[in-house]
Amino acid sequence: MSVGSERAVTAESEVAEICRDLIRIDTSNYGDGSGPGERKAAEYVAEQLAEFGLEPQIFESAKGRASTVVRIEGEDRSRPGLLIHGHTDVVPANADDWTVHPFSGEITDGCVWGRGAVDMKDMDAMTLAVVRDRLRTGRKPPRDLVLAFLADEEAGGTYGARFLVDRHPELFEGVTEAIGEVGGFSFTVNDQARLYLIETAEKGMHWMRLTVEGRAGHGSMENNDNAITELCEAVARLGRHQFPLRITKTVRAFLDELSDALGVRLDPEDMDETLRVLGGIAKMIGTTLRNTAQPTMLGAGYKVNVIPGQATAHVDGRFLPGYEEEFLAELDSVLGPRVKRESLHYDKALETSFDGPLVEAMQTALRAEDPIARAVPYCLSGGTDAKSFQDLGIRCFGFAPLQLPPELDFAGMFHGVDERVPVDGLQFGVRVLDRFIDLA
Ligand SMILES: [Zn+2]
Repeated sequence: MSVGSERAVTAESEVAEICRDLIRIDTSNYGDGSGPGERKAAEYVAEQLAEFGLEPQIFESAKGRASTVVRIEGEDRSRPGLLIHGHTDVVPANADDWTVHPFSGEITDGCVWGRGAVDMKDMDAMTLAVVRDRLRTGRKPPRDLVLAFLADEEAGGTYGARFLVDRHPELFEGVTEAIGEVGGFSFTVNDQARLYLIETAEKGMHWMRLTVEGRAGHGSMENNDNAITELCEAVARLGRHQFPLRITKTVRAFLDELSDALGVRLDPEDMDETLRVLGGIAKMIGTTLRNTAQPTMLGAGYKVNVIPGQATAHVDGRFLPGYEEEFLAELDSVLGPRVKRESLHYDKALETSFDGPLVEAMQTALRAEDPIARAVPYCLSGGTDAKSFQDLGIRCFGFAPLQLPPELDFAGMFHGVDERVPVDGLQFGVRVLDRFIDLA
């Protein structure tokens, strides 16, 4: 050991490098198993943990589809365990669109740049840095921690979280609560209030195929039962349909907290005004106020002078927790009796309450590092691996603490071009996460 200026390695000092290393492993998930890097990422994670004496296990659900899991013993082993999960795969990136190469992990202008910087190699790196620091300094967590670094989240988790939950549930024995994506990031309201959005709910999804059968025939003939015409009318009705405003308990709790932070009463019936106040995160909140069904694909016909007997469309449907039945009934009434609707892919909605000791721990840990912090619940319009873990009875939260400069468009970073994360945001995150583990 040299003397003088050399400083000890800490979670804060190495988190950006770990994030960079992870970004440099191209873990693009194309949804067909051809992605190049999940195995390498799983091995990298395992090495980082093994360096301090842990014995992580790597599980391969199919060739190259690897996830890493480790359990860290807590002080009180009679307490239920806490799961911290993150996915290691990323959505693909087109290098031509980027300022820096998306897999360079370049650290410049105070940010780590690259695909996965906010979704979610940031949290993977923070978790690794914190756990390494705790092992280095001999600080046990108060209760068992299970860490899971997972493949395949970006394509639905079949080869990652879903596989582990179905085939290796013993890994999560005794675990009752979990944190993961997408939450914990900041939204600065003004100089007295910074909200940290904790994910407590997720919309569910129905991906559907619509089919109309009609009378096939020659294009020169009259036809009052043209499948294309019938389908297009139904699809147009659906595309223009606005589902009614539904304030779920999560959105209501969000509005209450926000009203309190702003010192103004926000009217749930006047969400336009509320969304205006929300600036950059309005997009994320706005889409959790209603069910939605967007037509996304059309198919019919094979020749210009032939009326086909069938026409199809695909629809991406998303429903709020508690409103699935209403969603399907309304959908059918908008589409009408001619349309046959089939489900291609289904995922449930989730919702837990914003209360209890774990939520307190988040609030306290955030407040200790940011005096104007206020944790607020919100509903994610998409889905995460939490949907799989919930099947084991685990109560899941999106909590990957990250303080962001007000001007950074966080929502736009997800799957976006020039995805990047501020280094000081990561350092803030490790301090909060470390405190949180002690309080959890
Ligand atoms: Zn993600």
